[in-house]
Amino acid sequence: MPEATACLHPDFRALVKVARLEDAIAGRVEGTGYLAEVSVTCAACGIAFRFVGVPAGIDYARPTTAIDGCTLHAPIEPATSPTLASRATYRVPGAIRPH
Ligand SMILES: [Zn+2]
Repeated sequence: MPEATACLHPDFRALVKVARLEDAIAGRVEGTGYLAEVSVTCAACGIAFRFVGVPAGIDYARPTTAIDGCTLHAPIEPATSPTLASRATYRVPGAIRPH
């Protein structure tokens, strides 16, 4: 892991892996869900970024992170039904402080 530097983190690299989940125990071969794994690093210094405000663990119903907070596990689904409005929430931060 790179050490902390005076880097201003001007550019980023993101890696996204998508997994198709299957229920092997029940013998179902059709997909039972999808999971996107996202990680972000600074393109200049290579330091990893943590996802803030997301609990650690694995939950196929809501986003979680790896124990170090640097990989987001996000359940995803095909956008074939209009469910966004019923799930959307908005929160305005009190102050934005650059790190
Ligand atoms: Zn950087």
